[in-house]
Amino acid sequence: MTVIQGTPASGGYVLGKIRTVSRTADPGRELRNGFISETERLDHAVDKASRELDRLYESALKKVGENSAQIFEIHKMMLEDEDFIGEARRLTDTGMEAENALRSAADNLIAAFRAMDTEYMQARAADVEGIARRLCEILEGKSGGITLTEPSIVAADDLTPAETILLDRNLVLGFVTERGSEMSHTAILARMMGIPAVVGVRRSLADCDGVTAILDGDSGRLLVNPDEAMSGEYHQRIRKAKEETARLDLLRGRKSYNSAGERVRITANVGDLDDIGEAVKWDCEGVGLFRTEFLFMRRSKPPTEEEQYEIYRSAAEQLNGEECVVRTLDAGADKRISYLTGDASEANPALGIRAVRLCLKMPELLLTQFRALYRAAAVGNISAMIPMITLPSEVERVREIAAEARASLDRDGLKWGRMKVGIMIETPSAAILADLLAPMVDFFSIGTNDLIQYTVAADRENPDVAYLSTPLPESVRRCIKMTCSAARREGIPVCVCGELGADAAQTRFFLECGVTKLSVAPPKILKVREAVMAAKYSRMY
Ligand code: PEP
Ligand code: MG
Repeated sequence: MTVIQGTPASGGYVLGKIRTVSRTADPGRELRNGFISETERLDHAVDKASRELDRLYESALKKVGENSAQIFEIHKMMLEDEDFIGEARRLTDTGMEAENALRSAADNLIAAFRAMDTEYMQARAADVEGIARRLCEILEGKSGGITLTEPSIVAADDLTPAETILLDRNLVLGFVTERGSEMSHTAILARMMGIPAVVGVRRSLADCDGVTAILDGDSGRLLVNPDEAMSGEYHQRIRKAKEETARLDLLRGRKSYNSAGERVRITANVGDLDDIGEAVKWDCEGVGLFRTEFLFMRRSKPPTEEEQYEIYRSAAEQLNGEECVVRTLDAGADKRISYLTGDASEANPALGIRAVRLCLKMPELLLTQFRALYRAAAVGNISAMIPMITLPSEVERVREIAAEARASLDRDGLKWGRMKVGIMIETPSAAILADLLAPMVDFFSIGTNDLIQYTVAADRENPDVAYLSTPLPESVRRCIKMTCSAARREGIPVCVCGELGADAAQTRFFLECGVTKLSVAPPKILKVREAVMAAKYSRMY
């Protein structure tokens, strides 16, 4: 048995035969004869690729929905890009062979994307690579797409979104690629399609064709030629996972309550509109955390008020009246957005200008976001939540900006709706001052990811200090208890929206504290609902 480690990109496990994708040319169909110039050859390939992308968009629309299908529209735009195809055309005009011209233009653009500072933009280099490859394939007479004849784990150096979407879903057991990151579109599409995937194994998979393997999308491993014991173990895991899915499916549409008879809502953590569609599929009872920083990341300037309004309005619409808690921009630290946070590196970014601190430094950002949110609240059930609050003075300033947003909407004659404004409790200072903060806000939401890192002074990304947070330290428990006790006295609700909210081992503790909302990754919703329904406890607050 050989164990190949990669990056987990889409969860779940499967056992099956590997089908390694090889891309060989069919010289008979090479796009060469009958063309007067290399530029003409290139234009013909671009035209053919453009028509392919139209068909792919239609196919993706049916399989994964509009938001994910948009990648093919973006690819189409790339086919018109001056720096890419325009540059290739300039080179073929000088007589360079179309394939070489494309490679040269693509390489320049790929280098530019790789130099960008967000992981998302860096991953776009793979899109350029995929388009260039497809154009070269057309020039070389290769057909696009991969044909599967039996259920297979598809292995490739990399898969373009086009190849991924064209695969027969009934025959794809999983994906494993030599390159790619969890932010690559193939990984995103795999998650949307619910197919296990491992990316970036950093070794050739050519020798694995036809071999039996286990693909573990949770741990990011490919186990080639598994021995009997390992196969047995995974057969059992797969059977258990199926049983669990069937059991949890029975909880769809059910509601959970605490021992005082109050409703306990299991809501979703999302990062964009696609995620909301996914959350609805998992039977969420609203969204407890919409991380809006992702809306600011895939671009060179902040989204306008109008763009944000459309997104928040559409989010609320998808949730059919259930509450959508939108967190205001949490940029900084590991979520750098260079056009806002600048390139100058802070010595301690997690302790620097992050989240609300950035928004108070650049208040127009928060004002625009509040205006969009208040407008969306006129037509949907929207609440706002402020990240990284440390002191009451920050809440006062945020409230002033919120009031300014309402007043300016009045002046502009734009409709706005009443909206709850809550804060995240994710610094020890906020937990300690919870009694002072509670009267100033409509709700608390405990961000355990940061609350833990700041309480035990251990970087949440650094595995070497993870021992300080597992098992959950008493210091963090006390912060959570202080927060819940202050909230109960003031009569405001508490949600837990960090990763710990999905940990069934902590459900009882949260219910004892009086937490009435848990916001978790969509696939965890039913499991957490099960834990809430099964918990036996008595309330502290
Ligand atoms: C948290 O800190 O627990 C949280 C939910 O916020 P984020 O993970 O986005 O920092
Ligand atoms: Mg946080």
